[in-house]
Amino acid sequence: LNRRLAEFGTTIFAEMSALALSTGSINLGQGFPDTDGPEQVREAAVRALRDGRGNQYPPGPGVPELRTAIAEHQRRRYGLGCNPDTEVLVTAGATEAIAAALLALLEPGDEVIALEPYYDSYAACIAMAGGVRVPVTLRPHHDGGASFRLDLDELRDAVTERTRLLLINTPHNPTGTVLTREELAAIAELAVERDLLVVTDEVYEHLVFDDAEHVPLATFPGMRERTVTISSAGKTFSFTGWKVGWVTAAPGLVTAVRSAKQFLTYVSSGPFQYAVAEALALPDTYFEALRAELRAKRDLLATGLAEAGFAVFRPAGTYFVTTDIRPLGESDGLAFCRALPERAGVVAIPNTVFYDHRESGAPFVRFAFCKRTEVLEEAVRRLKSLA
Ligand code: PMP
Ligand code: GLN
Repeated sequence: LNRRLAEFGTTIFAEMSALALSTGSINLGQGFPDTDGPEQVREAAVRALRDGRGNQYPPGPGVPELRTAIAEHQRRRYGLGCNPDTEVLVTAGATEAIAAALLALLEPGDEVIALEPYYDSYAACIAMAGGVRVPVTLRPHHDGGASFRLDLDELRDAVTERTRLLLINTPHNPTGTVLTREELAAIAELAVERDLLVVTDEVYEHLVFDDAEHVPLATFPGMRERTVTISSAGKTFSFTGWKVGWVTAAPGLVTAVRSAKQFLTYVSSGPFQYAVAEALALPDTYFEALRAELRAKRDLLATGLAEAGFAVFRPAGTYFVTTDIRPLGESDGLAFCRALPERAGVVAIPNTVFYDHRESGAPFVRFAFCKRTEVLEEAVRRLKSLA
């Protein structure tokens, strides 16, 4: 393994999912639903396969039906006009979109500001692109319900002459923070003022709860021409295995990202693209039902974790709850997660692996609630045995 990648080793998701399997534990680690997405969308994939749509290389930017559906989704949801021919690129999941965007837009030595804790592929892709990551830490707050918040002054102070790009993620994995309209406006102002590009990972755009609202960064003044927006069908439709993601951006940025994508995967898997095109056209009731179901699961798990003795950060979005294990008399989240399958038959993710400042993340542990109710109930029962 070369020096750029040596520090990354095996992803925590692979390590912890393997541990779940080998110990027969309930896997609340890696974020994937334990029930599949809508029947009619699965049928659409089968129909595409049978009808011979997408069984050979689809067009590089993605099949027209899906690009049109993505553009229509951006218009209907957010009022963002988007040309399906020049401003949309279909990718192999959001993961490839992130990689292609960073490989296309960074020069070696460019600094990238990322919110810490950051999704693990950000650090690895910045490194592969020869960039330098500059983390800005989301800090725990305990005012009127615990949450992790961005300090806008810290963000401003992190920008230097070498900063090329802000890598934003909202709703945020692993903390569940949803950046507010005010915070996003401040990020946008900073990007315009310092002439920065913004790559924004919005894969959890539909998973927001209560009063939280997802507002795409691209909707703010001056942002259309500098923002690469990334999303994916994995979370929104509960098909994480399909690996259909996309980029929306101004034509020049899409062309750049596509230049990198063509040498990563060339094109993305065909038949699933037709199915996701149908999924994006599902009525609002689908999205509302998904949110309601996940909110109930969040409440079940958050309440259960609190009863089991964890300090809980109630997420406004995503399908993860971050906890603080110190009330249990623990302080090392990595050791805690490695021992948890033996102690309680449950797998979780130690947030510390998403930090450069490992110490800042040491006591935080993430649990996923995108699981069947009875699975969450059993996990809570097991975790209560820890106290
Ligand atoms: N970004 C974030 C914040 C994620 O949590 C994930 C994992 N689902 C991804 C990107 C990757 O998405 P995909 O599975 O579509 O590649
Ligand atoms: N996004 C998922 C999570 O955060 C995992 C995806 C992966 O395994 N790379 O749990």
